[in-house]
Amino acid sequence: MKAQVLREINVPLEVEDIEVDNPGPREVLVRTRASGVCHSDLHYVEGSYNIPKPAVLGHEAAGTIEAVGDQVSYVQPGDPVIMCLSVFCGLCEFCLRGDPHLCTRTAVMRGRDEPPRLSQKGVAVTQMAQLGSYAEMMLVHENAVVKVADDVPFDRLALIGCGATTGLGAALNTAKVQPGSSVAVVGCGGVGLNAVQGAALAGALRIIAIDTVETKLTMATQFGATDVIDASGGDVVEKVRDLTGGGVDYSFEAIGLKQTAEQCYEMLRDGGTATIIGMIPERTKIEIDAGSFLRRERKIQGSSMGSNRFRTDMPRYIEFYRQGRLKLDELVSQHVKLGQLNEAFADMKAGNVARSVIMFD
Ligand SMILES: [Zn+2]
Ligand SMILES: [Zn+2]
Repeated sequence: MKAQVLREINVPLEVEDIEVDNPGPREVLVRTRASGVCHSDLHYVEGSYNIPKPAVLGHEAAGTIEAVGDQVSYVQPGDPVIMCLSVFCGLCEFCLRGDPHLCTRTAVMRGRDEPPRLSQKGVAVTQMAQLGSYAEMMLVHENAVVKVADDVPFDRLALIGCGATTGLGAALNTAKVQPGSSVAVVGCGGVGLNAVQGAALAGALRIIAIDTVETKLTMATQFGATDVIDASGGDVVEKVRDLTGGGVDYSFEAIGLKQTAEQCYEMLRDGGTATIIGMIPERTKIEIDAGSFLRRERKIQGSSMGSNRFRTDMPRYIEFYRQGRLKLDELVSQHVKLGQLNEAFADMKAGNVARSVIMFD
């Protein structure tokens, strides 16, 4: 099959031929139909996060089941599915206590004594997040997919696979935004816009969208923001405090920077919670004021993949979309093809797209 492969940091990804193994007993082979180009992939291209190379990146995808292992009964060939990087084993403590997104994932990988899922002339090829969706096929554990109805286009389904679930889940699952509360979202790309609409779905009264790009702020208003702040115009924290009379109940960082993470903490009112969604480079230290942390009960927390339970969350998001209460169409800025990944990354860095989606048909 064809895949666009990461060979070295900051080197353009080329389309190459890759061999994909047959499904193991609990694996499924998925024909990729659509894959969103997510900002997380760029971190691996640029080396701020590491992955063994060569690697097939891509983790925001939807497709159809092509073949299943002999112990798989959940799906069958032809079923449309959304992939999720929160592959769950269903056996570990995190899975059993209701946090499958924190699964230790030891039981869902191939062992060292088994052949790799992907290879090229006998050399193992890494699948990002055990998915690797910048490829015509994805060989994954059955617990990496959720079966969905066939009435929603694949590009929309793909976005649910990461960006929508990450942003919506941060508001609904991780922060549990309360009706009537105030919210600020810093960074209004694909994930941030979904944090905005997650806060709107939760009934937040005030939703302040913050970005430096005017088109993103305009989109944020369509997604439910009640106020916008152009961050290029000076002190964001002070503006949030002015707008809300002292700070917000919930803030969300959806860029992945130390500076904006600290701002998210500083813009909280007493008792408020900052939720960090953006992939801040590994080993970065975030500094917060101990006084307000202790005496005023301000909190800061991470949100991984929207604290999802994706087999229940994603079908609900699809239903919200069907009812017109969740926007996905507006997030698809352009369709591209396998082979155009480098250009899609360039568009993302330039900030002129919400999402590029690779279509495989
Ligand atoms: Zn992603
Ligand atoms: Zn588990």
